[in-house]
Amino acid sequence: MAPKQDGRHPLSLSSDPASGLTMNRRQVLGSAVAGLSAAALPSARALASGEPKKVDVLLIGGGIMSATLGIWLRELEPTWSISMLERLDGVALESSNGWNNAGTGHSALAELNYTPEKADGRIDISKAVEINEAFQISRQFWSWQLRNGVLKNPRSFINHTPHMSFVWGDDNIAYLEKRYEALKASPLFAGMQFSTDPAQISQWVPLMMEGRDPGQKIGATWTPLGTDMEFGEITRQFVAYLQSQPNFDLALNAEVDDITRNGDGTWRVTHRSTKDGREETIDAKFLFIGAGGGAIHLLQKSGIPEAEDYAGFPVGGSFLVNETQDVTMRHLAKAYGKASVGSPPMSVPHLDTRVIGGKRVILFGPFATFSTKFLKEGSYFDLLTSTTTTNAWPMMRVGIDEYPLVEYLAGQLMMSDDDRFAALQEYFPEAKKDQWRLWQAGQRVQIIKRDKDKGGVLKLGTEIVSAKDGSLAALLGASPGASTAAPIMLKVLEKVFADRVATPDWQAKIRQIVPSYGTELNKDPAKVQEEWAYTSQHLELPTPPQITLASAAAAKPEASSEIANDAAKPVHDMAP
Ligand SMILES: Cc1cc2nc3c(=O)[nH]c(=O)nc-3n(C[C@H](O)[C@H](O)[C@H](O)COP(=O)(O)OP(=O)(O)OC[C@H]3O[C@@H](n4cnc5c(N)ncnc54)[C@H](O)[C@@H]3O)c2cc1C
Repeated sequence: MAPKQDGRHPLSLSSDPASGLTMNRRQVLGSAVAGLSAAALPSARALASGEPKKVDVLLIGGGIMSATLGIWLRELEPTWSISMLERLDGVALESSNGWNNAGTGHSALAELNYTPEKADGRIDISKAVEINEAFQISRQFWSWQLRNGVLKNPRSFINHTPHMSFVWGDDNIAYLEKRYEALKASPLFAGMQFSTDPAQISQWVPLMMEGRDPGQKIGATWTPLGTDMEFGEITRQFVAYLQSQPNFDLALNAEVDDITRNGDGTWRVTHRSTKDGREETIDAKFLFIGAGGGAIHLLQKSGIPEAEDYAGFPVGGSFLVNETQDVTMRHLAKAYGKASVGSPPMSVPHLDTRVIGGKRVILFGPFATFSTKFLKEGSYFDLLTSTTTTNAWPMMRVGIDEYPLVEYLAGQLMMSDDDRFAALQEYFPEAKKDQWRLWQAGQRVQIIKRDKDKGGVLKLGTEIVSAKDGSLAALLGASPGASTAAPIMLKVLEKVFADRVATPDWQAKIRQIVPSYGTELNKDPAKVQEEWAYTSQHLELPTPPQITLASAAAAKPEASSEIANDAAKPVHDMAP
């Protein structure tokens, strides 16, 4: 099908004649394999039934991103009709599931990869500030949803869990101390403590200190502001709320097969039942591809020229899990170490308290895994079928330029159970092997982007790819991930509904949901304090640290901060 374009976003307030969309351009290398797999299925096209259903918004994928966008749109345009399609039996069964990710509320409190050391020895905190500010938007978004009964008990999805950085060796300790000094300049990091004193660190994380060589030099930072998240629970509660609303429907076991453009600018999406092969079609004015690892394939099917810039490279993760209560109740922290040379940032080892399904467990990892699947429940052909004539060269370039990553992955794949246990003992010296099992978590598809100078570059963040006229958007990549679903989906809205975002109605609603919207929190300590107080109250988190006047001079590197005594004490407020 090759319908003509009028290039107008069907939900736009004004028409945009400047669209340059092209029709479906099939992947050249992938088509043969895709064709073979399709041939093995019942003749679904023959089963296609009825006229296409018509909706304002179609969300592909039942993960946290689609669910969050659905909630945003329900708030902003309650009368719009929304459909969600999910290929599995339920929502939140891929990366957003509690067991398939690390559950860190990423706010750059502990993750050392967000604070690189510059050539002149200074620490660059700009990325850390950006990620922390994004998480503050998430906190406000979830608080609003709790206030309105969309989200239920905060303990079901967010739990106070101090975030720590934990390193050993003189160089790493010196780096950590410099990082701590640099972060003190920002009110967003108030309450952080630094120590090299084993007695102090033992108080924070006794399990990590018992049996440790007393001669080993260690350093740690600790902050009471950290959280452990259950993103699967947020997703399920959001979708349950949407299902209780008029004009929303969810189809499970509905796998999107094809995306084409209609003559009136809407998107025709064909989905097939994974149960009986029946095909149905939906025409949507706005299409969001929130398919996680499945997004690249679908973006390619849409035929928008922007899709040609991308390829994907899957990296999975596995964790060692301990569910022995005597042990799990003695560790209350997410303790992040330093990444090995060449490793991607999401492979930094960490020993984590998690609360999943109301139960407290400890996870250690991740260990990188490799599979050609783009989704945990995906196909081994995923990598091959995503390869096209336009992205093959960028992929090859990245393979050559990122050789340390390839070496790192190979090293991880060679690891035996004993090697993984030895890695755990560096963080938990007296760990007992029989209490740990290996768990395969989700797949992340790293973005490979075409680059004019280098041919291709590996991008470890998240990218919103959208059609020029704003009628389609897709989310690629997975870092910092689910923690920032609310701000990322707000960015999607700013990108594709710019004219509506500018209206007084949308502005007022966005500010009601995110009171700090438009404020650079890093430069506004009073606003940070206000926002922390508001969100801690609704998320039922401990009293936040007091930002002192000294740290109010946020831009000054020498500024310091203090913490309120009650916030400095670990609070064991989590589910047993
Ligand atoms: C090992 C690991 C650790 C992580 N740790 C963290 C962390 O600590 N903190 C954090 O914030 N983030 C973390 N992340 C990232 C986070 O999990 C993801 O960013 C987030 O869950 C992505 O949500 P999503 O909705 O885009 O994708 P998903 O949750 O994967 O949902 C996509 C959905 O789309 C469906 N789908 C795919 N293709 C189709 C199709 N053709 N038709 C219909 N449906 C389709 C899938 O079945 C799936 O349900 C981690 C990820 C991994 C893998």
